[in-house]
Amino acid sequence: MKVDYEALRKQAIEMLEARGVTLTDIANITYEIQKTYYDDLTLEVCLEHVNNVLMKREVINAVVTGITLDILAEKGHVEEPLRSILMNDYSLYGIDEVLAYSIVNVYGSIGLTNFGYIDKLKVGIIGEIDRVGKRDDKCNTFLDDIVGAIAASSASRIAHTR
Ligand code: MG
Repeated sequence: MKVDYEALRKQAIEMLEARGVTLTDIANITYEIQKTYYDDLTLEVCLEHVNNVLMKREVINAVVTGITLDILAEKGHVEEPLRSILMNDYSLYGIDEVLAYSIVNVYGSIGLTNFGYIDKLKVGIIGEIDRVGKRDDKCNTFLDDIVGAIAASSASRIAHTR
């Protein structure tokens, strides 16, 4: 079969929005971590880079896969003990980060450094995603890493183009 990646890209953006994350939210994270380095940086420019990151097939695949797993866990369509691991965002699970690496990998080592920084400081909407994910009926185990990875990749893109 042939996958229509333009359609899948639209679906990925819709899935992010349905989970409470807009591309502007992601651009905001990028802006927060890059504004001290570039005086003339604007949110609009960051948003352009976020859109470009979302053109990549690896990124679209990671978004759709990660959010699908979060939703399946919420719906109870995942066998135990994996369901509890995902619902409780078990810290030694680690596959959520590995999936996010497939996004930052495209942008080299700066991407990885930015990703670690965003994850540690819970920049912007990441803190909110984590808070919602802690609710008993919610699972954002993959979402926080996906969003952080797209923001980190956008930051790396800015660094590479300047
Ligand atoms: Mg996570």
